[in-house]
Amino acid sequence: MPFYMIRGDITKLQVDAIVNAANNTLLGGGGVDGAIHRAAGPKLLEECRTLGGCETGQAKLTGGYNLPAKYVIHTVGPIWRGGNRGERELLVSCYRNSLELASKEGCKTLAFPLISAGVYGYPKDQAVQVAVETIQSFLLTHDVSVTLVLFDRDAATVSKSLFTDISSYIDAQFIKEHADQGPECVRREVAFYRDAVKGMPMSAGVPGSQKEALSHIDESFSQMLLRKIDAAGLTDAECYKKANIDRKLFSKIRNDPHYRPSKATALAFAIALELDLNETQELLRKAGFTLSHFQKLDIIVEYFILHGNYDIFQINQALFAFDQSLLGG
Ligand code: ADP
Repeated sequence: MPFYMIRGDITKLQVDAIVNAANNTLLGGGGVDGAIHRAAGPKLLEECRTLGGCETGQAKLTGGYNLPAKYVIHTVGPIWRGGNRGERELLVSCYRNSLELASKEGCKTLAFPLISAGVYGYPKDQAVQVAVETIQSFLLTHDVSVTLVLFDRDAATVSKSLFTDISSYIDAQFIKEHADQGPECVRREVAFYRDAVKGMPMSAGVPGSQKEALSHIDESFSQMLLRKIDAAGLTDAECYKKANIDRKLFSKIRNDPHYRPSKATALAFAIALELDLNETQELLRKAGFTLSHFQKLDIIVEYFILHGNYDIFQINQALFAFDQSLLGG
């Protein structure tokens, strides 16, 4: 099931369980712990007193009381001591144990703060990577939906070098498209769509087969998607997981040949199927959309396709870093 990242306050989320970055006593503290206790009310502390604390890396469950979430899972992150004191393994355990506990309690929706990345001093960029990798690997085998809630603006979701590289790519495409406004600009757009219709690559990629495209001209989005899943040798489950798409949404698309997905959904499938730019354009058109150099989101996705990187979680981390909406979900 899908993985989301949002900026916000975890105490406001209406999910089955939110995770608390607690301390060993479980008797409340500052940061997210304080915010959760304030929002849940005094009954949460009463229940926490009965738990006898919690070891670092472990997780314990309580009710959510006045919170919109049904449960709180309290986990204790490691204090950062330079990185050579088992901090990473302990942080992985926090996520893993919380996910397992949530799953055991039948929770289908779960939200995490960035554990250890506040007072406990874990470097934020590394904390994000541990969170994303651990959650992502859990989702390959479990049917839950997980949201990572980032509170701080400076919690970077991609490395500085990748951010710079993508920024340069966006600038280059923007400059190219905006260099000449007016009639020339319009001509470019017309040429762009005409090339796409002809099955020619947008700016790079392998030329598509016109004949092949024509033979599927009457296909709907859903039909094209299912055909391409077969052609890629993927199972349905492999495909919707790679696309960060919910199983129920996938069934809807599968069962309704006329289903019109959102652009984010259509693009997510293009990524899962590892389509080149030309094929991506073709799939998007079936849903009534197009990739455009006037949209930052589109340029970022194009950047990843051109680099042959079809990891939707990495793409979403980059989209998040540029304040764009995410794919899938
Ligand atoms: P730790 O002691 O594990 O470092 P903190 O509570 O100090 O825990 O910080 C963990 C992360 O939670 C930090 O990134 C902090 O900015 C974030 N945080 C604080 N309040 C909230 C909140 N209301 N919702 C989500 N995240 C929050």
